[in-house]
Amino acid sequence: MWLKPARYSHVQDKSLYILVPNETYRNWYEQNFAELLDDAMRKLSLGVERIELICGEQTKTAPKQAKFDFDAPMAQFNPRYTFETFVVGRSNQFAHAAADAVARNPAKAYNPLFLYGGVGMGKTHLLQAIGQAILSNPEKKLRLAYVTTNQFLHEVINSLRYDRMISFHERYRNLDVLMVDDIQFVGGKERTQEELFHTFNALYEGQKQIVFTSDRPPKEIPDLEERLRSRFEWGLMADLQPPDLETKVAILMRKSELQSVRLPDEVALFMASKIHGNVRELEGSLTRLLAYCSLTATEITVGTAQQVLKSTLAAQERKITIESIQKVVADEFRLRVSDLMVKNNSKKIVYPRQIAMYLSRELAGASLPEIGRTFGGKHHTTVLHSIEKIKEGRLADKDLNKILHKLSGTLQ
Ligand code: ADP
Ligand code: MG
Repeated sequence: MWLKPARYSHVQDKSLYILVPNETYRNWYEQNFAELLDDAMRKLSLGVERIELICGEQTKTAPKQAKFDFDAPMAQFNPRYTFETFVVGRSNQFAHAAADAVARNPAKAYNPLFLYGGVGMGKTHLLQAIGQAILSNPEKKLRLAYVTTNQFLHEVINSLRYDRMISFHERYRNLDVLMVDDIQFVGGKERTQEELFHTFNALYEGQKQIVFTSDRPPKEIPDLEERLRSRFEWGLMADLQPPDLETKVAILMRKSELQSVRLPDEVALFMASKIHGNVRELEGSLTRLLAYCSLTATEITVGTAQQVLKSTLAAQERKITIESIQKVVADEFRLRVSDLMVKNNSKKIVYPRQIAMYLSRELAGASLPEIGRTFGGKHHTTVLHSIEKIKEGRLADKDLNKILHKLSGTLQ
């Protein structure tokens, strides 16, 4: 009720002017929100020192839209994604150490740094931690940009469309640090790859730091120009593996601590051993449990966890594996599971095998080398080709789509 009507007016002399409907609002804001707003502003590091609330007549004196940089890099970061909140374990210690070195010595340690790993393994967290550490170093005032690959793509498109390529180049080639999240999405985007290539060269030659994250290593990104792929591999590549049990326990403890809750050891251990998914799922379960216990004033015990997380835990039991996929696909096509693994290039075998590989990637989240191994030692590029084939086929072929729906229905 109180926040909704507030509008940005302008910025002048490091003061941010906010427009509110009337005096009542203004008084209310000053009495109730002043500290919160100041606090939020400080955290966002937007270069604003004061907040002024204006209403009614005062607005007429406001100058026409002073420029205000809402894209200020710090504002894009999640304040929870820092090195302090990142739990280091065997599965991520290498990536963490590399990220830490880059944050301390941008462009001196490893360039580019290429962080990769499955969904929810902490890539974005680590990338933002690097960014926040660099920006909070007052000695070096570095120009930094943090973008997702999709943002970069849209900037390329808009710059082309509105004939603003020159300012696009200026923006990206004058940076000290460029961080791009989820770079796997440049696959197949030719023009974006070209821009990225030139941006990369300009920054690299100027000895500026570049950091990428990806859900897979460069050689597994489909439709990626060779010259970009090789550049991604020039510096250091570090992967983030699924956390082991102890790391999962530590993450649960740390996340509860951040919410000022004491999570009993046995509950943390219970959750860590039952939830096999990624850290994001683990965190989601924790949030649900803590919310439930807080809202119903229930003690946090293994019993409560069991009850609150019942559906999550049941889904975990039914976890889809490559083996279960092979079995279901073989049944569907009246083959034996072993048929899918032998060296046989007849269509009768190739097609089901491609489908099984596709499902292994999509439903079991298996990596290309892992799929290659389980299907009788296929090269990862063969696996990739098979998956792409089904992915494309699915768009045009209704029957194929039906089969895929049916199979995934059986598996879920
Ligand atoms: P990704 O980008 O790899 O998909 P994220 O960085 O978004 O994954 O991580 C998902 C969630 O898990 C985030 O909330 C993040 O804070 C948390 N997380 C992942 N790894 C860790 C870790 N080692 N320590 C603390 N939190 C982690
Ligand atoms: Mg991410």
